Amino acid sequence: MNRYPTVEIVVTSGGVVAIDGPMKPGDAIEWRDFIASKGPLRYNINTEHHQDHITSNWYLKADKIISSEVTYADFLTSLTSLEVTRERMLNYDPGCGDLLEGYEVWWPDITFKSRMTLRLGGETFHLIHSPGHTRRQTVVHAVEARVAFTADNITPGNYPFFHSAAVWEWFESLALLESLGVDWYVPGHGDPCGKGEFPRHREIMFDIINEIKELKNRGLGREEV
Ligand SMILES: [Zn+2]
Repeated sequence: MNRYPTVEIVVTSGGVVAIDGPMKPGDAIEWRDFIASKGPLRYNINTEHHQDHITSNWYLKADKIISSEVTYADFLTSLTSLEVTRERMLNYDPGCGDLLEGYEVWWPDITFKSRMTLRLGGETFHLIHSPGHTRRQTVVHAVEARVAFTADNITPGNYPFFHSAAVWEWFESLALLESLGVDWYVPGHGDPCGKGEFPRHREIMFDIINEIKELKNRGLGREEV
């Protein structure tokens, strides 16, 4: 579902695996009900700590929430308090007050350092830490489905978002994604794409990096740049 952000599920005979969830409470409830029509939500994978990917944890109520250890550690830098979280959701969805009744921030139950493998209903999922848009993005490779969920390391139709980015490692993460035997890439924002997206993405990243180098060479300070 292409909302804010793009959110995904994989349906297996053993239940559902979700990758992130929508920022707006109304969207989160719609998404939760859609998931329920497909089976019990066993796992919800948070691909990064930014608010748009994690605020829905409470609405989706997966059996277990999974993230990388650094994403877990960075949770509080994104959702600094319950009040701030509620304010931000009201900002995105001004009419959502009623849907915030009893709202809590739900943290990951299971964390991993560099990789983990999840097996459910005959499907295999490789969770791979992939620095890029943040210093510990998680990309999810659904092996049998031949799909990779790229988180915000790929954002077709948008500029790469350099929020809390690991700039040079991002290129390595793109190479890893590109090397996977998949038919589709489902991004953190935007529509699914194929391998053709990678050259475009790298080119835009280099353009932005070069622009910043130029500004620095002109003597602008970090914050000004
Ligand atoms: Zn983000």
